[in-house]
Order: sequence, then C-alpha cells, then structure tokens
Amino acid sequence: MEEQVDVLICGGGSAGLCAGVWLARSGIRFRILEQRDGPLKKGQADGVQCRTVEIFESFGLSDVLLNEAYHASELTFWAPEDGRAGIRRTHYAPDKLAGVSHLPHVLLSQARINELLTNEMESKAGRPCVEYGCEVLGVEVDSESAKDSNAYCVTVAVSKSGTERKYRAKYVLGSDGAHSAVRKSLGFKMVGDTSDSVWGVMDIYPRTNFPDIRKKAVIQSAAGNLIIIPREGDLLVRFYIELNNVVAKDVTLEALHEKLRQILQPYDLEVAETEWWSAYSIGQRLADHFHKDYRVFLGGDACHTHSPKAGQGMNVSLQDGYNIGWKLAAVIRGRAKPELLETYVSERQKTAAELIEFDRSWTKLFSSSYRKEHGITPEQFHDKFLLSARYTAGQAINYSDSTIVSAKTSEASLATGLTIGMRLPSVPVIRFSDARVMELVRFLPAQSWWHILVFSGDIRDPKTLTRLQNVRIFSLYSIRS
Ligand SMILES: Cc1cc2nc3c(=O)[nH]c(=O)nc-3n(C[C@H](O)[C@H](O)[C@H](O)COP(=O)(O)OP(=O)(O)OC[C@H]3O[C@@H](n4cnc5c(N)ncnc54)[C@H](O)[C@@H]3O)c2cc1C
Repeated sequence: MEEQVDVLICGGGSAGLCAGVWLARSGIRFRILEQRDGPLKKGQADGVQCRTVEIFESFGLSDVLLNEAYHASELTFWAPEDGRAGIRRTHYAPDKLAGVSHLPHVLLSQARINELLTNEMESKAGRPCVEYGCEVLGVEVDSESAKDSNAYCVTVAVSKSGTERKYRAKYVLGSDGAHSAVRKSLGFKMVGDTSDSVWGVMDIYPRTNFPDIRKKAVIQSAAGNLIIIPREGDLLVRFYIELNNVVAKDVTLEALHEKLRQILQPYDLEVAETEWWSAYSIGQRLADHFHKDYRVFLGGDACHTHSPKAGQGMNVSLQDGYNIGWKLAAVIRGRAKPELLETYVSERQKTAAELIEFDRSWTKLFSSSYRKEHGITPEQFHDKFLLSARYTAGQAINYSDSTIVSAKTSEASLATGLTIGMRLPSVPVIRFSDARVMELVRFLPAQSWWHILVFSGDIRDPKTLTRLQNVRIFSLYSIRS
C-alpha cells in the first residue's frame, strides 16, 4: 500500500529541515526521509551569515542561536613577510559592514543548527517528522495528472532496512545533497567546472602562540592558504586548508596537521585534540533544471555546489528551504495559486547562478598562482575581500520582477530605505500601545499569515491621518520609527 503525504522532503539537511519548519508551522501534512541512522552529530558547515540569523529570528530561534554561537566581530589578514620566512599581520577589519543587518555573523556547528530546526519543527508539528534510515531511490512524476492541483502525482521509491516501498505526494523537495538521487532519477545534470579543488577542514583544540587564534583570520603564506574560524565555546577552532594536487580520499589527518604548522610559521602550534575532520572536493556546478512540472523541486547542494571559502553552502541551502517552505504551505492551504511556486525556481535559480559566479571569482582571489600572475598585493586582496562583505552576509540578493515582486510598477516613495526585490531591512521602532522600543522584524514572525506594513508618513498631518484611517486593514499594532 502506498502512503500519501502532501509534501515529501527527501533529505533532512539544511534545506530540508528549514522547509520542514515552515510546513510544520503551517499545519501541512509532510514527512522528511533521511538516509542517516539519526541526526547529524558533528562537523560540516559552521558559518551563519547575517541573513540566516535574521531567518532564525523570524522563526523565534535567534536568541538560542546567538547565545550559543561564536560572534565574528573582527577579521584579520596575514601574508608572507617580505624577505623573511613566515607570515605577518597586514590588516584588521570589522567582520560585518556597517548597516548590513541588525544581527551579527556567527559560527555554530551545522549539527547544532540542524538540531534547533528539528526541535522547532517537531514541537510545532507535535510529532516526529524525520524518518531516519530511509534511502530515497528515485522519483517519478505523472505529468498528465500534475495538471490537477489536487493530484498526488509524484511517486517516490524508498528503501528502508532492505525493504522497498513507495510514497505518493503532491509535492516533493529534493534536498538530498550533492549526490542527489532525486536529481539523478529525473535525468537532470550538474553543469559546471570539473576540476575540483580539495579542501581539508579540521575542528581542533590547539595550543599555540599565534595571536589571532580567537579571531577569524585569512592567511596567505608560501606554504599555502588557510582560513581560521574560531568556534563556539572558547577553545575549539576550525581550520580550512586548501590543498593542491591531491584527491580527497588520499588526504590524511597527519598531513593536515603538518600543513597547518607550516603555514603558521614562525608561530608554533600543537594539536591537543582533533574533534572532527574531513577532506572534500567541491566543483562549481549548477543543476540544469530546478523542477519537474513544478511538482518536484531541487534545493540546496542538490542543485548548486561550490567551495566552502565564503561560507555560503549551508546558508544558501537553508534559504532555499525557507523560500519553498512558505510557498508550498500557501498553495496547499489554498491561499495562493500554484503559479506562486514558479517564483521559487526563478528566484533561487538566479541566486544559485550568482553564487556560482561569486565563488569562481572568490576562488581565483584565494589562489596563490592567480594572485602571483596578476600581481595582487595583500592590500588589494584585503580590499577585494571587504568589497564582497555585503554578498557574504547574504544581503545582496535582489529578486527580479515576478507575480510577487513588482519593482517597475510599485511606488515606495515613503519607504526610501527599501529596495523592492530585496529582504525587508529592520529598524528600531516604537510600539504605540506600550511605547516599547523593538526591532521592526520582531513584529513580523514567520507564521502562516501575511503582514501588511503601511508607511503612512507623518500622521500629525491631518491629511496623512485621514489617508491612513481610510486604509481598510485590521491593524493590531501601530508603530513609529
Ligand atoms: C563532509 C562534508 C563537509 C562539509 N564541510 C563544510 C564546511 O566545512 N563548510 C561549508 O561551508 N560547507 C561544508 N559542507 C557543505 C555544507 O554542509 C552544505 O553546503 C549544506 O549542508 C547543504 O545543505 P543541503 O540541505 O543541501 O545538504 P545536506 O545538509 O548535506 O543534507 C542532505 C541530506 O540528505 C541526506 N541524503 C542524501 N542522499 C539521500 C537519499 N538518497 N535518501 C535520503 N536521504 C539522503 C543526507 O544524509 C543529508 O542529511 C560540507 C559538506 C559535507 C558533505
């Protein structure tokens, strides 16, 4: 007997769980199938950009995130010292551009982030939502019945404990990572660079006299490139090391320790303990299709992969899940037309393509041979790095016109700080009812209802007041900035 659900999420990582939170908050019948035996325990990504922290705020999860995470405030740059062996500090910079967000950029293990999302999702749904040990084998869409918006037109084959079974769903999210079985079963291809760079990544407890071990540091040295990312708690540190001329499976932990010591010269470093490590190769690739009949959608690494240098992978994937989650909920509850789902594809395909382009130029900037060939000085490297700060904070995404974005026809003359197509920036506002000062977005939680903001102008002007009073919307709060 085939089991039916409205939404089946294949893969319970960043994209899948974030979509799941929206569906749970909206009361949708959904399930997540995950091939792991249980939740992710350690490792993988860790950088939580400002935009993602804002998303957590909208879910009511930012307080715990900010409490547990490392807050990245300052960034230092190191380069080879002229005429001498070893590295020297060349620049300091604030980690966040002024005005980019009211929230910081933080670092927290992806395992913990997944846990926060899972707890939120299951508490809102009032039941376990993730079925572990369940491998998705492939999906099929009945394109004819897909024309009926109520049809359970997607069949998903899964294997659990050696037994195969089938699900039927109205919609499927393929968020099953870089080797996505969903993508492959639809015959979609990843298009892009084939020459993968290999990265070694380690979370270690170091003993060292390197002075910036508790700061985010970008190091170029004669022995190679390194990014230092302090981790939550006061002791653990992550190191990203770019490796040349190796395949990921041949990398050893001892080789990573040795390379790290060489790069940090003249400073000393001993590894007291390694908490987690991995070596993996990432190409800059984009799926040639993001959906099938607007019934199966790809999200996260299943449709875009790139290097970890700019800390984008988990963030862009979470944001894919955030984007598709509310749209699926609105369509299934009959509050929006199915055409709304087309905007997931147009918005996130554009975002993914920009990410791949950004990562290509970022990768060049990090390559010692490219910098040498183009004579890029440590000063120029520092300047280019900071120029990208809005992008790496997740605040440069600008959606084009669609059924829900209308920059051409909208007039936002009283809301001059807004760019239509970009996320709503927050500002401190005062709630009239109790004169409490709050961030605007705290009034706009990610629930399954709409928020309408009226930028009325100065209501001491009787004309403006009358105009506002004529807006026929039931308003719970009045606020002023
Ligand atoms: C080993 C490793 C180390 C990484 N390290 C870093 C890092 O240091 N920094 C960084 O920025 N990024 C890193 N990344 C990338 C980052 O974790 C991803 O960009 C991000 O997790 C993408 O989110 P996602 O939801 O698309 O995929 P994931 O978070 O990978 O989730 C996909 C989920 O799908 C499950 N799955 C896969 N196939 C199936 C199937 N057939 N059936 C059911 N379930 C399936 C997987 O078990 C997984 O839980 C790393 C990735 C890996 C794999």
